Amino acid sequence: MIINHTQTCKPQNNLTQCLTKRLILPFINNSLLAGIYIHIPFCKQRCHYCDFHFSTNLRHTDELVTTLGKEINLQYEQNYLESASLETIYFGGGTPSILSVSAIEYLLARIHQNWTVLADAEITLEANPDDLNETSLRHWKYAGINRLSIGIQSLYEDELKWMHRAHSAAEALTALDKAMDAGFEKLSADFIYGSPLLTDERWAATLDWLTGKKIPHVSCYALTIEPNTAFGKKPRTSTMVEAEQERQHHQFMMLVAEMEKAGYEQYEISNFSLPGKRSRHNTAYWEGKPYLGIGPSAHSYNGHSRQWNVSNNHAYMKAIGENRIPAEIEILTPLQQLNEYLMTSLRRSCGCNLNEIAERWGEIYASKIEGTLPGYLEKEMMQINGKQFTLTQYGKLFADKIASELFFTD
Ligand code: SF4
Repeated sequence: MIINHTQTCKPQNNLTQCLTKRLILPFINNSLLAGIYIHIPFCKQRCHYCDFHFSTNLRHTDELVTTLGKEINLQYEQNYLESASLETIYFGGGTPSILSVSAIEYLLARIHQNWTVLADAEITLEANPDDLNETSLRHWKYAGINRLSIGIQSLYEDELKWMHRAHSAAEALTALDKAMDAGFEKLSADFIYGSPLLTDERWAATLDWLTGKKIPHVSCYALTIEPNTAFGKKPRTSTMVEAEQERQHHQFMMLVAEMEKAGYEQYEISNFSLPGKRSRHNTAYWEGKPYLGIGPSAHSYNGHSRQWNVSNNHAYMKAIGENRIPAEIEILTPLQQLNEYLMTSLRRSCGCNLNEIAERWGEIYASKIEGTLPGYLEKEMMQINGKQFTLTQYGKLFADKIASELFFTD
């Protein structure tokens, strides 16, 4: 069910409360801690594979930052996170590293004014290599950022150009050292594999370089071609698509083997960490903890509903200027919540648990799922340990498809 969300519209109604009561209870016990995501919808240029919401017109940056501050206050007044304290704050985008340090300080101050932020909260800023320098790094640290997630994507000049990234290979190669020299111990690096310019030799060299740096956290994503992107608009033959898939599958297997050898834990399909260095923000999201999204296109979740702000900077600023949060809200039915659990848990190393499914959604659903598992075991896509089932590395290549096959409809 999707409804338009205005300031006066609350997601609860008696029927939904009744339907979701069993599901909300475990959530409420969990709800003392939450996260805030702030979407910074600006980039210097448009990467050819990207379908996130952002604008390359930077003229309205200041106005938008002021509006983000106003939304923070509005969301607090609407009590979206109830009495939760914040364990994570995440500046994502877009490109948060193009903000001035005073803008970051302003937004953090707004958050601190409204919520209790844990003393050891994880406060992450996504940054691109071309924005990293001694001054920016020092300022971010001073402002309270304690974790950087750096979008390196590739170490090769021709591939960076092909992707239309704003940074050079030289900047990619020095970004992690600069961040470490500035004292950032909590670091994550993002890479993309499976592009036509990334040969297996190049990928092996990249992984060698990366694991040699001992970066605490690494996220690697297969290049996906979304329709509404520059890459998506180029015609592709079925032979090209097949070759792409084959390359991606092979490079995924190279990735997991190399990361394991280097002591990284693959705690989610695309996310690897050294022991104890998982991203708290992402983990909380996958565990179903509540989070509030601020900014155009930002999503929020509070255990029984999702909501997402309009993906248009001007419409967003206009609505917030009128004290309205321009969001659509979807009340999640119990079966939608079960599907979310299956989708996110299957991607994680811990997988899904049949006892948990029986307890939260009913024995009938656990039995139905249990009945489908032998088929996946036979194809070597899953493994079962007692009541816990997880994907094999081979199964992870088809994670979304498998999750959708397990989904229930209302
Ligand atoms: S910098 Fe990030 S958000 Fe911006 S266009 Fe590139 S991939 Fe997309």
